[in-house]
Amino acid sequence: MNQELTATVKGEVANLPLPLNAEDPLFAPYLSALANGELLIRQCAACDTQQWPPRPFCRNCQSSDFIWVQVLQTGTIASFSIAYRAFHPGYLDRLPAGTVLVDVEPGIRIAGRWTGKLDEIKIGARAELVVDEWAKHGVSAAWAPPQAK
Ligand SMILES: [Zn+2]
Repeated sequence: MNQELTATVKGEVANLPLPLNAEDPLFAPYLSALANGELLIRQCAACDTQQWPPRPFCRNCQSSDFIWVQVLQTGTIASFSIAYRAFHPGYLDRLPAGTVLVDVEPGIRIAGRWTGKLDEIKIGARAELVVDEWAKHGVSAAWAPPQAK
């Protein structure tokens, strides 16, 4: 059994949506870092321009030489949507489900699942990265209201 098929079977057993881009070098470091509660994005090694989502070439200088850098794990909700129908069996017991777009740096907007209460989602509200069970499996980022510390 090849590695990809093994991962698919494990994901189905756990009833988790699988990371769509786990084997893609443009996304794999990002998804691996999520499992550790870190948020990584790509930065051009030639001109330091940060970009997300990742593209093969820098949008500023067209270089294809990138490094991965850590960004803040908090940001501001720029937009959101709420799904009332499951697009994967793993969502059946999580409906309605919120998805938010969070600005963590100027020009860097990270999509993720909302794990807080749906009535807490407001454009302009603060959000904090959450390491839930799905994030530990590299499914996707998750966000919630910042916890008081
Ligand atoms: Zn560049």
